[in-house]
Amino acid sequence: MLMPKPDSGIIAKRAEIISAMQVIVPGEGVIIDEDELRAYDCDGLSAYKQLPLIVVLPANTDEVSRILKYCHENDVKIVPRGAGTGLSGGALPLADGITLGLGRFNNILEIDYQNRCIITQPGVTNLGITKAVEDKGFYYAPDPSSQIACSIGGNVAENSGGVHCLKYGLTTNNVLGVEMVLMDGQVVRIGGKHLDSEGYDLLGVITGSEGLLGVITEVTVRILKSPEVAKAVLLGFETSELAGDCVGQVISAGIIPGGMEMMDTFAIQAAEEFVHAGYPLDVEALLIIELDGPEVEVEYLIGKVAEIAKKVGAVHVKISQSDEERMRFWSGRKAAFPAVGRLSPDYICMDGTIPRGQLSFVLKRMAEMSKKYELRVANVFHAGDGNLHPLILFDAAKPGEFENAEKFGADILRLCVEVGGVLTGEHGVGIEKRDLMGEMFSEDDLKHQQRLKCAFDPEQLLNPGKVYPTLHRCAELGRMHVHKGQMKFPDIPRF
Ligand SMILES: Cc1cc2nc3c(=O)[nH]c(=O)nc-3n(C[C@H](O)[C@H](O)[C@H](O)COP(=O)(O)OP(=O)(O)OC[C@H]3O[C@@H](n4cnc5c(N)ncnc54)[C@H](O)[C@@H]3O)c2cc1C
Repeated sequence: MLMPKPDSGIIAKRAEIISAMQVIVPGEGVIIDEDELRAYDCDGLSAYKQLPLIVVLPANTDEVSRILKYCHENDVKIVPRGAGTGLSGGALPLADGITLGLGRFNNILEIDYQNRCIITQPGVTNLGITKAVEDKGFYYAPDPSSQIACSIGGNVAENSGGVHCLKYGLTTNNVLGVEMVLMDGQVVRIGGKHLDSEGYDLLGVITGSEGLLGVITEVTVRILKSPEVAKAVLLGFETSELAGDCVGQVISAGIIPGGMEMMDTFAIQAAEEFVHAGYPLDVEALLIIELDGPEVEVEYLIGKVAEIAKKVGAVHVKISQSDEERMRFWSGRKAAFPAVGRLSPDYICMDGTIPRGQLSFVLKRMAEMSKKYELRVANVFHAGDGNLHPLILFDAAKPGEFENAEKFGADILRLCVEVGGVLTGEHGVGIEKRDLMGEMFSEDDLKHQQRLKCAFDPEQLLNPGKVYPTLHRCAELGRMHVHKGQMKFPDIPRF
């Protein structure tokens, strides 16, 4: 994996940059000691590590604006970082760049039940948002499995998903507005509590932009009333084809479950051994389907789902009889990554999306690849969304095994594209899938996407080396980009 060659001129100016940062962020907000920098040397894609030039931890928007302005004027690269749980290397530091940690932006600013939204700083955890409103019977719907740790700013940057996103949408469907600092230090507001405004969907552009367009310093998200009841059903199938059929038939019957997750034999066994969730061990595929809403509706629909599953050929059907039992069903799914992690020194978690109808074909092809590469693979995924998370097990201590695992992962993603899917469902491109972008987009497509990047960051100082396989200079891409100081955003009032 090639990153842009570090700029030795910037590295030589490290002392100067540190002094400037210490003026902007007084106190303990500038980290320069090598041992302390090590805590920031990777994100959740820990196979790749790089010490940053320095880490700066601003505490307010004004400081972020001054930091970015300094970097812009002095050609210093900068990498935004939330909680560092990303799985695609989006927050991987640069040797000649500042890592900008948003961890001190950890306050909820306003809870507005009338408008059903929360205004929060970006460093607040995903779960922290739900915790702030659950006593009043509300919650924030997108629920990545990392929700206890990942930040809402990181969720917006990655357009994160989770179990509930089938019914309630991804982050992009739940974000109402952001405050964002552009590379030249300009602070802009996009969206807000109001309904969508006229003009281009800039909020859509920002959501999922992986820290390449600006630094998010405030987020407004929608909150929802917690459902009256939720019930889950565990369904075991002798083949993954039958489980795939069941997914298709439930959706085509007009039922959109609150969650619809699938695990294969390997994942079922690992999770059961780890948390004793009560999963059947004699099946090839397990579905957990949750229905939520008013009690009568849930009772009716859960019966319907069980009926469909039996018709399709489920050999194990168990409906949760209490909330504890429902949570126990989910405990295995939620702990599936660490459970699989116990069986191997290392694993990488892939993330591709396919049309639901291709599930069983793709699983079969993956099993063949597993034999070819002589590496085990466990499958845990958001079946309703067709979002796969194959976990490829390897041992980094064995020469060549990591490279082999990466090749296996790349073949899986190519297969996703081949069957009409996409390279990522929710983890982003980062560096992990960067060199595979050409499998999905033509060179012209990629140039057009980079023109958008150039409109926000013509000098390409924000998180360079991520997402795009070739770094074109903006001048090469034509004259679409706007020169310094010319970019004007409407001053949208907050309320
Ligand atoms: C065990 C585990 C389970 C996971 N499960 C899921 C899951 O179910 N669904 C899912 O979608 N993801 C999942 N993830 C991936 C990860 O948690 C998400 O991508 C999450 O949104 C990253 O948030 P973060 O705060 O850790 O961001 P980071 O990793 O710090 O950063 C991610 C990207 O966002 C950018 N960024 C961060 N903050 C800002 C900001 N304020 N402004 C601009 N750019 C910013 C960074 O530059 C980087 O490109 C999982 C990760 C782990 C380790």
